[in-house]
Amino acid sequence: MLLYNHLMDEKGNVPYKHTCPVCGKKITGKVHFESLEKYMRGEMHIQHALPNMPAPERELFITGICNICWQHMFSENKAV
Ligand SMILES: [Zn+2]
Repeated sequence: MLLYNHLMDEKGNVPYKHTCPVCGKKITGKVHFESLEKYMRGEMHIQHALPNMPAPERELFITGICNICWQHMFSENKAV
């Protein structure tokens, strides 16, 4: 996960770039830096730190796995 702190916008969001370790897909987006830090420091659960972020996107910050791979693994587990 790469965070571009120097590109922070007026709302405190920073662009991020990440490569999924499973499929190698490159994912980019924006995240509220202070909120993410609270999660990283263990002060907050991610769903409280980033309540407006869709769950599949949050998964990126928790496991590093992209939405598509995560859904794939999830449905495989379900089938077993
Ligand atoms: Zn992936």
